[in-house]
Amino acid sequence: MDKNFQEEFTEIIKFQPPLYKQRHQFVKDLVEKYKPKKVADLGCADCSLLWMLKFCSCIEVLAGLDICANVMKEKMHTLSPLPVDYLQPSERSLTVTLHHGSVAHKDPCMLGFDLVTCIELIEHLEEPELKKFPEVVFGFMAPSIVVISTPNSEFNPLLPGVTSYRHPDHKFEWSQAQFQSWALETARCYNYSVEFSGVGHPPTGMEKVGFCTQIGVFVRQYPLTGESVQAEKPTEAVYKTVFKAVYPSLKDEKYLQNAVISEVIFTAQIIKHRLMSKRKECYDDPERKSKFQPSMDCFSDYLGKLVVEKNMEPFVSGNEVYIPLATIFSFPKVNRLCGTFEKLCKLIAGKVTLSSDGSAVVFNIEHENEEN
Ligand code: SAH
Repeated sequence: MDKNFQEEFTEIIKFQPPLYKQRHQFVKDLVEKYKPKKVADLGCADCSLLWMLKFCSCIEVLAGLDICANVMKEKMHTLSPLPVDYLQPSERSLTVTLHHGSVAHKDPCMLGFDLVTCIELIEHLEEPELKKFPEVVFGFMAPSIVVISTPNSEFNPLLPGVTSYRHPDHKFEWSQAQFQSWALETARCYNYSVEFSGVGHPPTGMEKVGFCTQIGVFVRQYPLTGESVQAEKPTEAVYKTVFKAVYPSLKDEKYLQNAVISEVIFTAQIIKHRLMSKRKECYDDPERKSKFQPSMDCFSDYLGKLVVEKNMEPFVSGNEVYIPLATIFSFPKVNRLCGTFEKLCKLIAGKVTLSSDGSAVVFNIEHENEEN
């Protein structure tokens, strides 16, 4: 249902939160339950559901499809990565694509999705399109889950100002029995199960009317093999891609390398700072000064459990501070980013100043010594 139209209804029957938000929340809850990696929103309109879904961390591929390119283009910029996404790339990869086309046509770009959402779409389809819709969505795309929402016409008498359909572009509006019989037949044909639900509760005492928006959640009852996807693949693409955004991700070696270099320098700076302050404390205190050894006993106390072996201790030699890579690698964030010590060495090679044997990060402290 169109948002503006709905706003009119909420004057009297107040859905809180508004019905379109409840529908989108319903989808978000499904995503949290099933954790799909690839989600396609058919009839995505202004991309508001896609925008909400891009924050779901399990999703790696998001696609939108609409027959009206202009409505998608209006707000598609909201699906682009922000500066913060480049400054702090996420661990997951995320690609968002928008296609211009009809749900009545098959296109290979719609294969391989885990969840397909059709929110307030089917009532906009002409009869021939509605006939082709199940074959495209359930037969060809065949995702694990399909969610379809549509107005419940039995609720309409409760909506002031609605004499026929809720929106001028609706081609039909179904009662609960009509939707359920279409959904059950579709599920039977394509080997899916279906469960009915909805959003927008009827007023107390009028429960028989059902939800304002009726929803069917379809779950595929057979496993999908690579061959069954390939077998149906048509040769030609019919949709036009109107938008594509690939989010920066640590899965991309280039972003991972930047993140590791920053984290290594940051960690090494912290260790150096602690070492230098400890060293200063020791020199300022005559009693401790006499005990202060180049092996930095007091600093290894400070690092506690982290420094377990002699060769992990940072040390000062002349005007240089050496922070062993093994120590840096033992810090959780560096460790998580790199996975292995070999990977750490590979990612920082040639990008960070290292000792001649490559085992430690080296800082020159000539100026700091002068200041002291
Ligand atoms: N899903 C949106 C709103 C849907 S309104 C939401 O949740 O807010 C219905 C949308 O379906 C419109 O944007 C319309 O352009 C689109 N539509 C209508 N017929 C279509 C078709 N055959 N194929 C794809 N999209 C279609």
